[in-house]
Amino acid sequence: MDTEVLIAGAGPTGLVLAIELARRGVDVRIVDKVDAYPTSSRGDALVPRTLTVFDDLGVLDEVLAAGHAKYPVQTYRDGALSHRRERITHTGQRPNMWLLGQARTEQLLRDRLAALGVRVQLGTAVTGLSQDAQAVTVRLNGEEIRAAYLVGADGGKSFVRHVLGVPFPGTTDETVRMLICDVEIDGLDTTCAHWFAQGLALVPVSGQPPLFQLRAPLGADAPQTTHSGVQALLDSRCGAGEVRLRDLRWSTVLRSNLRVAERFRIGRVFLAGDAAHVHPPTGSYGLNTGVEDAYNLGWKLATALSNSECVALLDSYHQERHRVASQIHTMITGLTRTYASGDKVPPELDLSYRHSPLSVDERAKPGTLRAGDRAPDALVQARDGRLTRLFELFHGTHATVLAFGQESADPPNWPGEVRTYSVFPPGFGGEFTDHEGQAFGAYDVLPATQVLVRPDGYVAAIRSVRSSVSSNTIRPSRS
Ligand SMILES: Cc1cc2nc3c(=O)[nH]c(=O)nc-3n(C[C@H](O)[C@H](O)[C@H](O)COP(=O)(O)OP(=O)(O)OC[C@H]3O[C@@H](n4cnc5c(N)ncnc54)[C@H](O)[C@@H]3O)c2cc1C
Repeated sequence: MDTEVLIAGAGPTGLVLAIELARRGVDVRIVDKVDAYPTSSRGDALVPRTLTVFDDLGVLDEVLAAGHAKYPVQTYRDGALSHRRERITHTGQRPNMWLLGQARTEQLLRDRLAALGVRVQLGTAVTGLSQDAQAVTVRLNGEEIRAAYLVGADGGKSFVRHVLGVPFPGTTDETVRMLICDVEIDGLDTTCAHWFAQGLALVPVSGQPPLFQLRAPLGADAPQTTHSGVQALLDSRCGAGEVRLRDLRWSTVLRSNLRVAERFRIGRVFLAGDAAHVHPPTGSYGLNTGVEDAYNLGWKLATALSNSECVALLDSYHQERHRVASQIHTMITGLTRTYASGDKVPPELDLSYRHSPLSVDERAKPGTLRAGDRAPDALVQARDGRLTRLFELFHGTHATVLAFGQESADPPNWPGEVRTYSVFPPGFGGEFTDHEGQAFGAYDVLPATQVLVRPDGYVAAIRSVRSSVSSNTIRPSRS
């Protein structure tokens, strides 16, 4: 075997997966057909869940330092400023959305991957593949290698998906098209976003002033992606001569593409990110969904590679992620045509894996939080008085048991490292004390409940246990 996992494509999906595998000690190789990394801003909006994943992967500080919270928005009518909306301040742990050009995000992910000893092999396209019971044989330009698993993270036009003949049903709406460019504009305020007629938006590209991402819904006319064509569009929507284009660095026209591959797993080959599902740019679901695919698949591949009895775990990747991609598509369908009306990024979806065979809720009366839901964050207080977020306890490659109102927990049936933390109501002592009822409230549990959290932050199992310490017998500590 030449490598355990070969990843085709070093976009955000492939990079996150490579980090997930490398930090678990998996022998991973990641290749990309391009000779130079892309420099364009493309998917520039990171949702809170992606920030949580980045935190776990060790890149959040860099992403926060390089990016920007949502900008104030200035709206113009007939060339004049008509309205200014200030930035919505957030009250939670994380901003509602963080802006960072995709090229910069990818650079930070590559840096993290390099720190783990893995580098992207550029100029290396997957050009053929076949598989047998033991491995996948992959042709990389002239070379042929054997990998235990192949992941096609090779974008919307995925070669891997095509060569395996996986159907990619969905729709392409030719009437909904969007011009997207990276532009330099003379004299435009780079501290806010600018909205003009017919939904034309100019949003600063974080960390790269004077660059703006221009987005403009297009009509039926053939778009002009030349310098003069984009200037003509600016003149028609912003007022003649009002906004002067200095430099057009990159441009593309995206159609409204909504497609989900029929299968995300084909034997030893997996599809992830845009290779598995494509979305219109409305809502920035592309990059964020790809990151989540990779985060779901990484620990499963690593577990299957280290324990051959766990190979069945890999089936859950399709079961969980295909359903999520389909749900997103249903939701986006309703949003696509409302793009021009206001906010670029709709609310983050609360998608769960409740239906997954990995999710087991053993309680007779489940609470509002169920097995399969995302494990929520909450503040707890350590014995030394330090406030800790549950998400900090989840960081790393292990699964976590939260033992509510119990000093210890029975070892769960879990194929890998498990760390157990006990959480007690205030006044009862214990390893961690719930802070202002946040943990018991967020998990909606009574004492003597054990919650098993998967390495990707989803609840795998919830069980009530007969315990010497229960909601009835629990007593305040004397300290
Ligand atoms: C032109 C364009 C503009 C976009 N604009 C926006 C936007 O404005 N907002 C937004 O939210 N989203 C946008 N998106 C979508 C967003 O960029 C994607 O959802 C996101 O990049 C998906 O990440 P990925 O890693 O799955 O795929 P990609 O980022 O597409 O990465 C796939 C990688 O695979 C490589 N590859 C392809 N074939 C092979 C092969 N045979 N062998 C090896 N490597 C291969 C490619 O070179 C590429 O680097 C845009 C996408 C495109 C293509």
